[in-house]
Amino acid sequence: MELLKRLENYSKTEAEVVAFKNAFTDETITYSELWSYSDKIAKHINETVECDKKPVVVYGHKSPLMLAAFLACVKTGHPYCPVDISMPQERLKDIVEASETKLLIAMVDTEVTAVNKWNKSEVDTMVSEDAVELPKDNYVSGSDVYYIIFTSGSTGKPKGVMITADCLDNYLDWMEQIMNRSTDKKQLTYLNQAPFSFDLSVMDTYTSLYTGGTIWSMEKRVQEDMGLMHSKLKESGLNVWVSTPSFMNVCLLNKEFNGENLPDFTTFLFCGEVLTNKTARELMKRFPNAEVINTYGPTESTVAVTEVVINDEMAGSEHPLSIGYDKPGTKIFIMDDKYTYPGKPEGEKGEIVIAGNTVAAGYLNQPELTADKFFKLSTPDGEMWAYKTGDEGYKEKELLYYCGRMDFQIKLNGYRIELGDIESNILEMDDVTYCVVLPIEKRGEVKGLAAFVTLDHPVEDEFEYSQSVRKYIAEKLPHYMVPKKCIVLDEMPMTNNGKADRRALKEML
Ligand code: AMP
Repeated sequence: MELLKRLENYSKTEAEVVAFKNAFTDETITYSELWSYSDKIAKHINETVECDKKPVVVYGHKSPLMLAAFLACVKTGHPYCPVDISMPQERLKDIVEASETKLLIAMVDTEVTAVNKWNKSEVDTMVSEDAVELPKDNYVSGSDVYYIIFTSGSTGKPKGVMITADCLDNYLDWMEQIMNRSTDKKQLTYLNQAPFSFDLSVMDTYTSLYTGGTIWSMEKRVQEDMGLMHSKLKESGLNVWVSTPSFMNVCLLNKEFNGENLPDFTTFLFCGEVLTNKTARELMKRFPNAEVINTYGPTESTVAVTEVVINDEMAGSEHPLSIGYDKPGTKIFIMDDKYTYPGKPEGEKGEIVIAGNTVAAGYLNQPELTADKFFKLSTPDGEMWAYKTGDEGYKEKELLYYCGRMDFQIKLNGYRIELGDIESNILEMDDVTYCVVLPIEKRGEVKGLAAFVTLDHPVEDEFEYSQSVRKYIAEKLPHYMVPKKCIVLDEMPMTNNGKADRRALKEML
């Protein structure tokens, strides 16, 4: 596969380029170390488990050897399942069981066991051994599964999304084009903020590895200490930002977060949730020389499948930002529940269906769920492998627009309401930094709406503030869209994936 070929080439260049750096511990790994360490770990994998293409679970946080372990797995024909320490132990256990793994590589201590289990000191010993000649015939390639990322499933058990070597190569070809277009600079430094168990990390980690860049990784404790984070950022030399918009909103609270203090940024890439006009505007004001790019996609189609560079006109408009143009090799359709080509015409809303060369092979060991969500779409150009996203959207002049989850639409007293509509409006208030609106339900029936907000200042009288939000919204939206109450939070609860934790918010009602 192209990625592995390139990594081998980078490992042989004379200049020792750092492939990955942990910004807190300052631990690094160069391309040549990454290559040789992964060979050494791979040798032990070959000696421990048979080459049956079963996944290897790699548990840990943001240490350089995590990457070497990932690479070792795919060099021996095994997909890897990355599990971050932010996952509860129960979740790790579920993943070990669901993946039927024969090997758990635990770079951080855990009680969870598997048929074979290695800890960090064992891996440290492996990489300190003499160099090995590893045969290349077992490398994952083509339709072999490269990684499996587990996402939460509606049944309460996680489901493993199988991304093949071809999916990843196709995705990276596109990302390389985006980066070449975005900047003339070579050997870029990429922010890694998302945990490895979240597909967003693939955007920074693998784009950087594919193009010979450096991953500058911020572990959890840096992200949780704003002062530390900003001092680290200032000395980072970062060029490419990759995060959810939520994380950016937190960073924007610090007025020092700007192009004067961080002059090397060329590109800001967002994915995973709605990028609001307000966030884009603020960011473009603070970093006038950098590009802000909105991308969209689910784990099931290798991170992202659309992208658009946000310009002043888009950011300044009342119209929510587009999520972008289809990437090469992908066609996005807007469909109804018949899922037939060519789907709905331009301008009409429907379910976003993604077809093309980065759509996952399916869910690991879940043929029924796979058959439910993935299908072969017949088109005049032949069959395309497709995924039903459950997202609602529409297209206009080839640009895709996101209208929320199909399941976030609610009815209140017969009125149809998009919660995102209210959220965007509340977010337009100057002092609101984050907003989530949820239905207040009694016995399954929606009785009203509640808005949760974080502000850029403390509030003394919450009731009075709540009234001011209601008044503001009443001026902009129909009466039935005005939240009954507005709850001011010091901090928005977040899921491990860096999105607002709607379940935790619901419990506050
Ligand atoms: P995940 O699999 O965690 O990446 O989540 C995928 C889901 O995140 C998509 O199905 C969308 O609902 C949402 N999403 C991803 N990108 C965007 C975006 N740019 N704007 C709005 N929602 C997004």
